[in-house]
Amino acid sequence: MDYLPAFHNVRGKLCLVVGGGEVGTRKAGVLLEAGARVRVVAPEIEPELAGQPGVEAIVARFAPRYLDGAVLVIAATNDRDVNRQVSELAQARNLPVNVVDDPELCSFIMPAILDRSPLMIAFSSGGGSPVLTRMMRGKLETVIPQNYSRLARFAVRFRELVKERVTNPPKRRIFWENALDGVVAEKVLAGDEDSAEALLKKMLDGEDNILRGEVYLVGAGPGDPDLLTFRALRLMQKADVVVYDNLVPNTIVDMTRRDAQRIFVGKQRASHTMRQEEINDLLVRLAQEGKRVVRLKGGDPFIFGRGGEEIETLAAQRIPFQVVPGITAAAGVASYAGIPLTHRDHAQSCLFVTGHLKDGTMNLDWNALARPNQTVVVYMGLHGLGILCGELVRHGMPDSTPIAIVQQGTTQNQRVITGTLATLPGIAEREKPQAPTLIIVGGVVTLHDKLAWFHPQTVGK
Ligand code: SAH
Repeated sequence: MDYLPAFHNVRGKLCLVVGGGEVGTRKAGVLLEAGARVRVVAPEIEPELAGQPGVEAIVARFAPRYLDGAVLVIAATNDRDVNRQVSELAQARNLPVNVVDDPELCSFIMPAILDRSPLMIAFSSGGGSPVLTRMMRGKLETVIPQNYSRLARFAVRFRELVKERVTNPPKRRIFWENALDGVVAEKVLAGDEDSAEALLKKMLDGEDNILRGEVYLVGAGPGDPDLLTFRALRLMQKADVVVYDNLVPNTIVDMTRRDAQRIFVGKQRASHTMRQEEINDLLVRLAQEGKRVVRLKGGDPFIFGRGGEEIETLAAQRIPFQVVPGITAAAGVASYAGIPLTHRDHAQSCLFVTGHLKDGTMNLDWNALARPNQTVVVYMGLHGLGILCGELVRHGMPDSTPIAIVQQGTTQNQRVITGTLATLPGIAEREKPQAPTLIIVGGVVTLHDKLAWFHPQTVGK
């Protein structure tokens, strides 16, 4: 270890920044955030810095007397001699001093920070590679949600109460581990602190086992694992059980916690492996066993995903749940196919409909669908493609209207097949696109030729 990591309390104390340019401004900003009073000394000081509350701006060259009263010093001038002088004088007075980008002259170095106050994470490469530390910070930024601040404040708020009630230290540690990694934490992170408080108090009364069960209804996006949300990934990595169907690719299911139990409830057209009611009951039963259940669904759970029905049952049974939105097929697939769903020249609105066939027909408002200047996105429509194209034309859409089928969008098997209302059914017959497929109708489809950017190595193209 080359340096001792420590967090310095500068609240209300005087810190000196020598240098009033961009770098000095940034450093002064960090000090102000930590509650310090900041004296800035430089022949020229950025007006936005000089005018800040808490800043004492001294327009002058550095002189030793400006160190008086300071508890910490930062030199950020572009003159190495001045920086060196500041460093030497500060060290002679045993004042901690940092010279920006000059580790040799520093008695302490400033880390890169990830601020989830009161939770604070500091990174350092010992001054060796600031770029590397910033990259590390960027990585952690994605896995530690912004609202961890909230969680940390919540923990601070109940610290004394828990200490009083759970007097044995190892037991107290376990108590906090359960609270901060379970339903209580999830309630706080979701912004419901009242429920979190109630749950915490129940846990203090010894009811923690019953409370752990919860269902997370998580949208997994259209296929590319990169399109998962941070929250989806975080909850997947906490799950005791994951319940998924065949719209969710294995690469995504594999991202759940390694020892989580996996339950496949695959739903293929016409061959439902498990009926919807059975899935609803399964979720209830697992949660009642105290498990943290991730119900992983393709796309977004609330768009043709029957997510509403699943959580209705949970709500009726008073089982806590959360819904995590996902990128729905229309958004994901259209982006990866280079087909903007709205566009000034082609479409001012967009409809999402299901083309699921019932008794050989589609129960859709054809007049609304056939209107000009809009895009129609059809989920589950491939089997009814002929009917779809025929009805749209019968209700007044020109048969030259562009239409696309996108097979397995956003994945390595993506294929975009385009045509018109007149030609596409025949083309699809020949090309035999593989499920899942999404149909997009409207002028925006012509943009695909120009805007296609995602070209996976497709078999059969
Ligand atoms: N909840 C999902 C939709 C479920 S319905 C969502 O928000 O996306 C299932 C239909 O979604 C499929 O029949 C297909 O029309 C569409 N779909 C889902 N993923 C797709 C993909 N990667 N490529 C093309 N279509 C997809």
